[in-house]
Amino acid sequence: MNPMTSRTHALRELDKRYVWHPFTQMKDWCDSEPVVIDHAKGHMLYDTDGNTYLDGVSSLWANLLGHRVPEIDQAIMEQMGKVAHCTYLGLAHEPGARLAEKLVQITPAGLNKVFYSDSGATSMEIALKMAYQYWYHRGESQRNSFLTLEEAYHGDTIGSVSLGGMELFHTLFRPLLFPVERIPTPYAYRSPYGEKAAEHTLERAEAILKEKGNTIAAFVIEPLMQGAAGMLSQPAGFVKKVRELCDRYNVLMVADEVAVGFGRTGHLFACEKEGISPDIMALAKGLTGGYLPLAATLTTDEIYNAFLGEYEEYKTFFHGHTYTANPLGCAAALATLDYLETRKVMDNVQVRIDQLAKGLSERISPLPIVGDIRRWGLMTGIELVKDRETKEAFPGAMQAGAKVCFLARKYGVMIRPLGNVLVLMPPLTLHEQEMELLLDAVEAAVKEFAVEQGLG
Ligand code: PLP
Repeated sequence: MNPMTSRTHALRELDKRYVWHPFTQMKDWCDSEPVVIDHAKGHMLYDTDGNTYLDGVSSLWANLLGHRVPEIDQAIMEQMGKVAHCTYLGLAHEPGARLAEKLVQITPAGLNKVFYSDSGATSMEIALKMAYQYWYHRGESQRNSFLTLEEAYHGDTIGSVSLGGMELFHTLFRPLLFPVERIPTPYAYRSPYGEKAAEHTLERAEAILKEKGNTIAAFVIEPLMQGAAGMLSQPAGFVKKVRELCDRYNVLMVADEVAVGFGRTGHLFACEKEGISPDIMALAKGLTGGYLPLAATLTTDEIYNAFLGEYEEYKTFFHGHTYTANPLGCAAALATLDYLETRKVMDNVQVRIDQLAKGLSERISPLPIVGDIRRWGLMTGIELVKDRETKEAFPGAMQAGAKVCFLARKYGVMIRPLGNVLVLMPPLTLHEQEMELLLDAVEAAVKEFAVEQGLG
């Protein structure tokens, strides 16, 4: 065995003996030969056997500007020379204060206060508790429910799972969860209402708000795109109508921009695209350029002010985490936001979006097992189907999406599926040739799988 192979073998054995991976059937994992990542540079991942892969899903939608970006590396190292971590309970620090100012400046108007945490799920737990406690302080403690979309995904902690509506991930835990009001997702392809799906969703939302709006703390939504559900897109104008409903029925609006935030949809924030400001906004993933676990929940002065009072009034928001506002994470986030601005990254995004849209429509859409392609900006879901006419799905147990993603590795691209949906979410700084590589690999892998199934 050459030294490279034996290192890979040893690491795989260690991993299989001691590690339990997320969202993974470990029996299959232990029977497989997992890729072991050694290092990364730019938009490429390198494994311990010397293979190279394009990071086609931005390391789970987090990496924004590529790996080992000199400016972000430098900012983290400089911060390391000062302090890597200190508690945020009872102390302040420069990167935390500066980042909060920056976030308030770049997010939609009215979001003036920043509460830090360390993951998308925690940013959403904070959103939920903040919304509930806000109403409690306003004398409306009966508002203990939330309005959410079917197929919603907001993270894996119990509060965020309560909001979640994905059968595969969430149903098992129902006995542990608090009940919420759920309305159908507005995505057309599999809705019995077809192109009128969004209209129907809004009607259902309005009916619920009319009947029991005063028991609902907030309408919670992943604006423009429900990511984990398989990139279920909402039509333009939908989020704006959600905002209008929230105003009409006096319910808070929570925008979970954990996945869609920081340029993924072609706009810095999805809410910005819709020209609205939510009452609470959750950010994570791309916030640090995908370097470090940091999240932020932003809110308005009105909500913040409702928590002010004498200590003995017990209006304090009793919530926090050991690593709240980790200084290294804040430094990485500041460098990321600076890079986005000074390098005019969003200009590149527009060019890549056009290239992606063209490639998808000319090369991927005509493939016989591609049923539907949903896209906002660079966020893309390609739904594979057994039969395009009837929309018959591949059986879940067959893991069609996973098989195609596995084939794509052979063509030098790392992507991940969500069920039968292939997800593409490349970094914002992707180059022209890299986008071609991504499209080539997807096309080749889908074709190969179709031929294997006798459907090519
Ligand atoms: N909210 C949305 C919309 C997400 O897509 C995710 C993760 O994919 C989360 C929340 C949870 O984020 P995390 O995995 O950082 O907890």
